Amino acid sequence: MDILPYGRHLIEPDDVEAVGDVLRGDWLTQGPKVAELEKALAERCGARHAVACSSGTSALHLAMLAAGIGPGDEIVSPALTFLATANCGVYVGAEPRFCDVDFRTVQVTAELLEPALSARTRAVLPVHFAGQPCDMEAISRLVRERCPEAILVEDACHALGGRHPDGTPVGSLRWADMVMFSLHPVKHVAAGEGGVLLTDRDDLAERLALLRNHGMTKDPGTLTRPDEGPWYYEMHEVGFNFRLPDLSCALGLSQLRKLDRFLARRREIAGRYHQALADLPHTLTPPAAAETSAWHIYMLHIDFAALGRSRRDVVADLRERGVGTQIHYYPVPLQPYYRQLGGYAEGDFPGAERHYARALTIPLFPAMSDGDVERVIAALHAVLG
Ligand SMILES: *Cc1c(COP(=O)(O)O)cnc(C)c1O
Repeated sequence: MDILPYGRHLIEPDDVEAVGDVLRGDWLTQGPKVAELEKALAERCGARHAVACSSGTSALHLAMLAAGIGPGDEIVSPALTFLATANCGVYVGAEPRFCDVDFRTVQVTAELLEPALSARTRAVLPVHFAGQPCDMEAISRLVRERCPEAILVEDACHALGGRHPDGTPVGSLRWADMVMFSLHPVKHVAAGEGGVLLTDRDDLAERLALLRNHGMTKDPGTLTRPDEGPWYYEMHEVGFNFRLPDLSCALGLSQLRKLDRFLARRREIAGRYHQALADLPHTLTPPAAAETSAWHIYMLHIDFAALGRSRRDVVADLRERGVGTQIHYYPVPLQPYYRQLGGYAEGDFPGAERHYARALTIPLFPAMSDGDVERVIAALHAVLG
């Protein structure tokens, strides 16, 4: 039997056509599709600028570089996220600190963030876990008051298409200096690999674009030898090659047009799960509000001890019934690297650890048929019931 993965992209004939058009054209890399994708994403989210780059990870790295964060600075990541949210601080020589998350919502709150802030905090990176936006109003109020020099960067990799409680789309810069997304195939819009940063600040947008491309500039206003000639460029600080090729942008653009349809299907499946899984023993369905979440993943909390079964056994039994699962995530500060770097140990992040002990992500992606959804529900009832 084929195994349903926890998430998967949906590529249709018009997506293939869009990439084929680029292959038949003049530009494989920095052609017109980059600006088209940037414009479409900025418009969709209500941001002034969008800067596309090679991955969500390089977007986070660029955000740190553009903000001038470096040695002696601290950044704050949630303890429960994908590794990259914290790693971006290490890339620039800053010290990552971690805040705990609420066990049930798996979100950062202002209360949980507070103890991780210090006079050296220069960046705070809230994560909209599973697609449900966290309370940015309370978080930004705290950060602006306590750490006026810090930038706020929303890691919105799970939340493209989601909405804040007041209806503002995730990606609007109402509370943060930058918001970033990943265009990895398991996220909402696939570009192969890819990332994008949104900002309303002209200075940050300019620096992000410069640092994405080796730090190369041709801006006559900044050149030390402005009359050298049309071939001439200068480098005033070191950047990287974090460019996103036209091939990927064309795929991303084609996929972005389907975002609403994809989101509607994710919501529909989540709604069916809510209803069908509510009475599973020792199991809680996610507390996310169905209308505002982008439903990147559907995550159950199972009290395996009360159930009397280990998670390993449950995962293996589900797999035998064709249902793949995943655990999002092992707490980042408990990774061997961060245990050594920061001296973290079990018990330091009770919310994240309690979540990790109970978490189980089940399949949720737009290409699932109704039959697939029912197969997952039946397997869960058979294994847990
Ligand atoms: C996927 C993801 C990233 C990294 O994005 P890539 O495009 O895979 O580099 C960062 N943060 C979170 C929360 C993610 O889920």
